[in-house]
Amino acid sequence: MKTLRLRPGKERSLLRRHPWIFESAIAKGGGDSGETVRVESHEGQFLAWAAFSPSSRIRARVWSFDEAQRIDAPFFIAACARAIIARARFDVQSDGVRLVHGESDGLPGLIVDRYGDTLVAQFTSAGTERWKNVLADALLRETGLSKLYERSDASVRALEGLEPATGWLRGGPVAGAEAPPVELSIHEHQWMLTLNIAEGHKTGFYLDQRDSRKRFAEYARRLGFQHVLNCFCYTGGFSVAALAGMRAAEAAGGPGGGRVVSIDSSGPALERARAHVALNGFDPNRASFLDADVNASLRQFLKEGQRFDAIILDPPKFAPTAAHADRAARAYKDINRLALQLLTPGGVLFTFSCSGGISADLFHKIVASAGADAGVDGYIVERLAGAPDHPMTLDFPEGEYLKGLVVMRKS
Ligand code: SAH
Repeated sequence: MKTLRLRPGKERSLLRRHPWIFESAIAKGGGDSGETVRVESHEGQFLAWAAFSPSSRIRARVWSFDEAQRIDAPFFIAACARAIIARARFDVQSDGVRLVHGESDGLPGLIVDRYGDTLVAQFTSAGTERWKNVLADALLRETGLSKLYERSDASVRALEGLEPATGWLRGGPVAGAEAPPVELSIHEHQWMLTLNIAEGHKTGFYLDQRDSRKRFAEYARRLGFQHVLNCFCYTGGFSVAALAGMRAAEAAGGPGGGRVVSIDSSGPALERARAHVALNGFDPNRASFLDADVNASLRQFLKEGQRFDAIILDPPKFAPTAAHADRAARAYKDINRLALQLLTPGGVLFTFSCSGGISADLFHKIVASAGADAGVDGYIVERLAGAPDHPMTLDFPEGEYLKGLVVMRKS
């Protein structure tokens, strides 16, 4: 058994059950890529069993804090089972569900999403790479499914010294038979949405925004939005939610005629967003799509004197880690300032950050300072977070990557 001996005093975060061991905390020891190592304090006290990552700054990730625990196939089967059972108790209104969310489920470096009868997994650490076959079998066994597609093409794999890997891991094409579909659809709330697990972002879809999309539909219904702007729309989940909410407002005797403008810089995502409007039975004339840079578009709208009574800002991860926080903060502030200027009085901004490097508190400050620069005050009517199947845990507060604010501009 290989051992990692920490520097004096470096055991503190592990004693709080935090699962990462940084390179700088290690005095000596190591192992092969993904190998299970025994982690000890400088004084030789057992701290954890962890997977060694020879080339990552996070040099080891904890599997267990229990000295009696064996890290073997039954351990991984039990961890997958626990994660899947927990989902049945979370409020998830979709057949697109995140089944395993990395550290939060005790499996650092493993993401698993279920889309109907197909699983899509990302293995992003040396440890999960080493146990890939065991994990794949465990996931299928615990879900009773047969198809698992691998999307291990996230850039973080490079930090672990791992090559990208994509394709069917289980249930793929067999001789004489057709390959299983990579084009899938899910029912989220009242809507049908499609995705491509081979080509879409992440595992194909942003499941984490499921409940915020529903929340947006509720605001649209209650307040009867007329001019919605969906920035960073990807495949138009929030656009569909907006149209659904506006239709409900009309049905309840509201004004009617509302429109949604959606912006993204990805052509294929926009094409799918447009298809989602028709697929869900909405009038295509109510929705327009711009293949453009959001920042430039917001400036252009301001110049033209356009105004919106609801705006969604759901940008990509500007700050993957705290080291990028400064530059990211400026980028967040910029788009939020422009959006607040574009809001009509009483209008509503749904603004998000999915950057692990930006805390909820910092994000709040950034949006506040965007408001100050815009000369716009607003009520923070709600705070939003990722859907419950993307949980954070008491032991791992870094799991809080996605945060949102609903800001209502003062009249
Ligand atoms: N709100 C979406 C998810 C957004 S993900 C949903 O509910 O599904 C972020 C999106 O921003 C991606 O689709 C990406 O293509 C787009 N994007 C990234 N940089 C951009 C830019 N500068 N201008 C416009 N879109 C951008």
